[in-house]
Amino acid sequence: MTALNIILLGAPGSGKGTQAEQLCKQLELVHVSTGDIFRENLKNKTELGQLAQTYMNEGKLVPDDVTANMVRDRLAKPDVQKGFVLDGFPRTLPQAESLTDILNKLNSQIKAVIYIKVADEEIVSRLSGRRICRSCQKPYHVIFSPAAKEGVCDTCGGELYQRDDDNPTTVRARLTTYHQQTSPLVEYYTKAGLVVEIEGQGPVAEVIDRTLTAARQAAAK
Ligand code: AMP
Repeated sequence: MTALNIILLGAPGSGKGTQAEQLCKQLELVHVSTGDIFRENLKNKTELGQLAQTYMNEGKLVPDDVTANMVRDRLAKPDVQKGFVLDGFPRTLPQAESLTDILNKLNSQIKAVIYIKVADEEIVSRLSGRRICRSCQKPYHVIFSPAAKEGVCDTCGGELYQRDDDNPTTVRARLTTYHQQTSPLVEYYTKAGLVVEIEGQGPVAEVIDRTLTAARQAAAK
């Protein structure tokens, strides 16, 4: 059986983290989020974290070679053998090409690219109210999906915080970066016959259903 390797493509705030969490839980896949790895490095004050910080704070992308090397190391670990969900990578055409190279060397491949479509206005309102658990990274929204007790994660009791880059100025910069550098990947992977487009707006449970259906169909191919 080949591994169920999935890429989640979509703007910042389109729900990639939430969908990845569900896919991993239901289908026993491993969540690989480049944003989470950068934030972990930032927290631990590693050299990589310090390098990434300036880019992240400005809503820009960390250089391709740095990011691709980090992903190469992560995908070489044995836990991804049954399959992984890539969240936030690739974000540029050179990163997509690096990913093909990384997977070829591992004798592996991508099964599906799930493209989550959400309008820009919705993104801005989602990100400005987003809160994240410091311990388990579970996302919340102050209005659309608040925690039962303000500031405390329902799942693990961790502290909820607002990401530094979820302020309005950086959100606008991140959206511009997305449209310029990442959205061309939709066409790139469509040509490869891998894209399944899903509507990312509407009740979260319905979006999760759509994502799971797309992933299960890819697994059955
Ligand atoms: P995210 O959590 O996916 O929204 O990522 C947060 C920030 O981390 C981005 O705005 C970038 O600065 C950086 N980052 C995450 N993934 C990548 C990537 N694939 N390439 C370059 N920078 C990235």
